[in-house]
Amino acid sequence: MLGLMQDRPLLISTMMEHAAHYHPDGEVITKAVEGGIHRTTYGEIIQRSGKLANALSRLNIKQGDCVSTLAWNTYRHMELYLAVPCMGSILNTVNPRLFPEQITYILNHSEAKFLFLDLSFVSSIEKLADSFPHVEHFIIMTDRAHMPETSLPNVLCYEDLIAPENDQYDWPELDENTAAGLCYTSGTTGDPKGALYSHRSTVLHSYSTCTKDSLGISNADTVMPIVPMFHVNAWGIPYAALMTGSKLVLPGADMTGENFFNLIKDEGCTIALGVPTIWLALLQHVATLEEQDLSGLPIESFIIGGSAAAPSLIEKIEETFGANVLHAWGMTESSPLGSVNRLMAKHAHLSEAEKLVLKTKQGRPPFGVEMKIVDDDGHELARDGVAFGRLLIRGPWVAKAYFKQPELKILDENGYFDTGDVSTLDADGYMTIVDRSKDVIKSGGEWISSIDLENVALGHDQVAEAAVIGIAHPKWQERPLLLILPIAGETPTKESILDYLEGKIAKWWTPDDVVFISEMPHTATGKIQKRDLREMFKDFKFKE
Ligand code: ADP
Repeated sequence: MLGLMQDRPLLISTMMEHAAHYHPDGEVITKAVEGGIHRTTYGEIIQRSGKLANALSRLNIKQGDCVSTLAWNTYRHMELYLAVPCMGSILNTVNPRLFPEQITYILNHSEAKFLFLDLSFVSSIEKLADSFPHVEHFIIMTDRAHMPETSLPNVLCYEDLIAPENDQYDWPELDENTAAGLCYTSGTTGDPKGALYSHRSTVLHSYSTCTKDSLGISNADTVMPIVPMFHVNAWGIPYAALMTGSKLVLPGADMTGENFFNLIKDEGCTIALGVPTIWLALLQHVATLEEQDLSGLPIESFIIGGSAAAPSLIEKIEETFGANVLHAWGMTESSPLGSVNRLMAKHAHLSEAEKLVLKTKQGRPPFGVEMKIVDDDGHELARDGVAFGRLLIRGPWVAKAYFKQPELKILDENGYFDTGDVSTLDADGYMTIVDRSKDVIKSGGEWISSIDLENVALGHDQVAEAAVIGIAHPKWQERPLLLILPIAGETPTKESILDYLEGKIAKWWTPDDVVFISEMPHTATGKIQKRDLREMFKDFKFKE
């Protein structure tokens, strides 16, 4: 027998309508790409989204068509986040930091008809425009006064485009499984692959994000996603903020520690989110300030994900801001939130040092994400915090296939997706990433976690960034090489680094060598680019 409850579809337009009724005055603040601070509200953004939808209709957009963006976190990007999916079209946010060939690949694969781009990307896209045969219009996200001279064909100015339009749009009642957003993974191996989110997955992910055991976003919060809106929908924050009406602070194109700090202080942010390198920039800026005790600021939570948050980073942020660091894990294929680290009631009595050990784990899955670890034969491993294996997940906001690649079977027979991460799970469900499966160092039949080694090395006070890669070894198969980017002006020695590691790691994990480098390569999403490091050190030989 079926239940007798209403079957209302889970649509982004319903979140928008809710916001229009219940928190139209909720503020949205942007560090504008053109300069200065721009202030608006959800109510105005929704009206402008109506205008944008009417303008896109005039340009003959159809349901299922793709609209791509190359854009920073701004109110205009937010308008695209609403108008495009709510019309039944697909918003494809493209990471401008990708290589030109990858951007070309994505725009051709998504067959985007419209490309909305920020001023910062006009000159680089001019060089590529000929390779986007599907793009009918290039829309520069600015006003008439800031329109640049450009060789882009069929170019339009965003503000001119929407200005003549009516702000009312009759949002269609779509099937909740209609595609809404398309994000491509950075493609650390092979071509980028597209995760195609639906309205249903987006709404469920937003509900989950707002729960207190997850990111706990509420109307009373001021949230600043520093994680870009071109990276997995800024971890879903724009939609979660819209749902709750929390004040939203968008840092624009100014990716400096100074901008992050000023926005935290001036706008009273309570939650800020980003990858570890963002927080390094923030801490470097704080080090230049006269006032070092910032515990009076209202910031409550720093959410760190995308790559592992080292204990030294967690400790430093908590100490500096008197705030809580929540370590989170996820991936493009999981919308992205897969786990969040909140301590449980039973951890209240733990010492600060014990809490720090726990906080370094990647956290527990929220309801909705099922997780397990398996060995190479697919057998489930113990949830004892010790056994480690391939991390598999399933849930209503996890991908079941890649966009236009139906031949690629990405789920096992039970519907689980292999994350490519190697993890442990403990009895409470705290998941710890040991490594990405391709980064783990295989030494003498045992595994060494590059992340664990890096986390320890980062505690050395002269180390800015640390990366461990495996180097082929005649006897052990692979041995770890530790690469260190020192803090500017510091000159640590190999001996001081190895002395520091001693006693903090198993002896056989000790790197066979330490090399100092002057620049650390990063991926388009701010992670250490180990593929480049492996390439740079492919001929490296340990001294006998
Ligand atoms: P991209 O490779 O495009 O950046 P994703 O953003 O999808 O792709 O990256 C997901 C991967 O990032 C995860 O599979 C995991 O390896 C890594 N990752 C994400 N969060 C964490 C974390 N908190 N700790 C360690 N690794 C993480």
